[in-house]
Amino acid sequence: MIIMKTEATEKEIANVVKEIKKYGLKADVSRGEFRTGIGLVGDERKVPFSHFALLPGVKEAVMVETPYKLISREYSKFFNGEADYRVIRVGNVSIGTDEPVFIAGPCAVEGKRQLFKVAEGIKKAGAHMLRGGVFKPRSSVHAFQGLGSIGLDEAEEALSWLREAGDKYELAVITEVRGETQVDMVAKYVDMIQIGTRNMYDQDLLTEVARRNKPVLFKRHFGAGIDEFLSFAEYIAAEGNKDIILCERGMLPVGKGKSYTRYTFDLAAIPAIQKETYLPVIADPSHATGRRDLIFNMSCAAIAAGASGLMIETHCNPAEALVDGQQMITPDELKEVIDACRRVRRSVVSR
Ligand code: PEP
Ligand code: MN
Repeated sequence: MIIMKTEATEKEIANVVKEIKKYGLKADVSRGEFRTGIGLVGDERKVPFSHFALLPGVKEAVMVETPYKLISREYSKFFNGEADYRVIRVGNVSIGTDEPVFIAGPCAVEGKRQLFKVAEGIKKAGAHMLRGGVFKPRSSVHAFQGLGSIGLDEAEEALSWLREAGDKYELAVITEVRGETQVDMVAKYVDMIQIGTRNMYDQDLLTEVARRNKPVLFKRHFGAGIDEFLSFAEYIAAEGNKDIILCERGMLPVGKGKSYTRYTFDLAAIPAIQKETYLPVIADPSHATGRRDLIFNMSCAAIAAGASGLMIETHCNPAEALVDGQQMITPDELKEVIDACRRVRRSVVSR
């Protein structure tokens, strides 16, 4: 990493960027509140840091070993100070402020009426964003894969409903991309693109999504350590897109016998990740628990742990939902959760 002097000129910054490129690396320029920092993207071992330290305008040139340096506090503190928290704008919503953001909606978009009805309900409940899967990752090929899997026309139609419902009820919209071929179409309709747990490790998909310059909701793989999770988020940042919202959604449960929850909600990961990165962290209690009767408590717990928001699966008639009915709550229940979470946030000093 190259830390520029406070008084460094644009020409001196451009010169450093040019030098970095000579060594076959990319430069990530961050213009902070205090000074400009230039991160090196690629294999830093080829770089003679002593040479960079002597260039005009350079204060310091140091090798940063952490695999997720572009998104780390360690790196950003040099130009933005210790207390850096990135606030990410998604449509008309800001994620990463003291106000928790609520993303709600069905697991899958099932039809236009279903979507508009639930959009109206979650808006009344106080949610900010509408979610709904068009391309569903499923463990069984025989299960409902989302309307997007029927064909391109059906995918585009379902995406257009999401957009329309979002516009009608003033909710930003988000959906998941499951593969690279879906990215262009999805990016046309949504405010934020979701990478699901199963695709956390797909670096080509991450790069492709990052290049759309839209905020990305990045879900932790159910078996990934925090280090790995952040290292793969770095693939998005390395494309110059730091509008990344990290999402804890539960880990594979351990131990023999019956599992009482779908996954194990790693609540401590929320503040632990927050200490490592300036990116906002949200939580998904729906997939983490798989049980609607646990959503209220675990939502409050995640907010108490410092989450910047929650993603909660919501359906007007969970019993008839095509996917994940067992964990979906109704808009009325969502309202109770949101109201309680706001009270929790006010009473907890999380940072
Ligand atoms: C989802 O949010 O729709 C989803 C499938 O979640 P996950 O990728 O965390 O399983
Ligand atoms: Mn689901």
